[in-house]
Amino acid sequence: GGSGSASTIKQVKLERESELRIEVGNDAPLRLRLLNGTAEIFGTELPPEIWLNFPPRLKFAVFTWFGATIEMDGATETDYTADETPMVSYVNVHAILDGRRSRAKASSPDDSESSQGPRVIVVGPTDSGKSTLSRMLLSWAAKQGCKPTFVDLDIGQGSITIPGCIAATPIEMPIDPVEGIPLEMPLVYFYGHATPSNNVELYKVLVKELSGMIERQFTGNAESRASGMVINTMGWIEGVGYDLLLHAIRTFKANVVLVLGQEKLCSMLKDVLKTEPKVDVVKLQRSGGVVSRNAKVRQKARSYRIREYFYGLSNDLSPHSNIANFSDLFVYRVGGGPQAPRSALPIGAEPAADPTRVVPVNINRDLLHLVLAVSFAKEPDEIISSNVAGFIYVTDIDIQRKKITYLAPSAGELPSKYLIMGSLTWLET
Ligand code: ADP
Repeated sequence: GGSGSASTIKQVKLERESELRIEVGNDAPLRLRLLNGTAEIFGTELPPEIWLNFPPRLKFAVFTWFGATIEMDGATETDYTADETPMVSYVNVHAILDGRRSRAKASSPDDSESSQGPRVIVVGPTDSGKSTLSRMLLSWAAKQGCKPTFVDLDIGQGSITIPGCIAATPIEMPIDPVEGIPLEMPLVYFYGHATPSNNVELYKVLVKELSGMIERQFTGNAESRASGMVINTMGWIEGVGYDLLLHAIRTFKANVVLVLGQEKLCSMLKDVLKTEPKVDVVKLQRSGGVVSRNAKVRQKARSYRIREYFYGLSNDLSPHSNIANFSDLFVYRVGGGPQAPRSALPIGAEPAADPTRVVPVNINRDLLHLVLAVSFAKEPDEIISSNVAGFIYVTDIDIQRKKITYLAPSAGELPSKYLIMGSLTWLET
């Protein structure tokens, strides 16, 4: 700040079971610290007296169970105190899950049924607080010494990696209120689009792949298995979106379905799942603090997320610009490929594109500004069943010299020459 600017430090006293809801301003970060008492941000306790830096645009709440005084320094878009929150009902859910985890831990790993911890799936419309509730349940569980697996099926606004992916990662510590989920080695499958309607079949196939992989990891890891999963989903709950929710519930064998703020969805799910043994469908209130985001804000958030992958949350990473020959890389897309010729089909049948067909793509200017995934596949026909190592961003295509320039998190050779393209673009700003 310039000289003579007034101090912007402000103290807020919070009564028990209330929260301070904050939207950090668009241009400057906000400093905040816990002066006295105890408080948490989405399930993670604040350290006493240490200033924390929150980046622009972040929306969060500081909640206290027993009362606290908070100090803030900087301008906010909004900040207000609320004493009506659904936190008690959320922590009650946590307590029940915690009991189930303890029982799973105590039973013999040979009993595959009873040694399995709860598999929780959080569903509800967009902006109902699904990601936030998932985060609280994970952080509270980690605080208790459990290592639940976080599965994020939200390809639009996921919190594990860049948009267009479904991913999973074990949570071993309460989630950092500023940094979010640690980006180290998550298990990621690349779908390539920000909405499932681009290729519903592919989305389902990838959900199946991811669940199969976690199932295999659980087999060899009793601790993870007993800690269970928390699965976050997309806000798409009508029509095909509803079918995909059911598909996810069944594929991951979820046994606790938490429905946020939607009576209709809750009763529909209760009805269809009543025939399935031991699935609890629980309706939970949406928090009044959840901030609604319009399409433009969502699009922007996706763009920031991709930026964060390459440059870090506060420009603390330095991605590397690399140049490769067209002949060194093999780009594929999934689905929408050339249709089977009519002559090859039975009389009367209409040719249909196979949504999970892997199609090679010629490298040309169409790839410019696309984000491509680097597959772990060793052969092209393994592309769908393989997770991805990371992403590159195409910054230049030189047709004459047959060279492609791309940004990658680091210098050196890519872990594989097989790249996957979707419709995910980014414009560096
Ligand atoms: P969903 O996953 O259902 O789309 P989110 O959990 O991502 O919704 O919440 C939307 C936004 O609201 C996020 O930016 C989140 O940080 C914010 N938010 C959620 N709960 C609160 C709260 N109690 N106070 C302030 N902001 C909140």
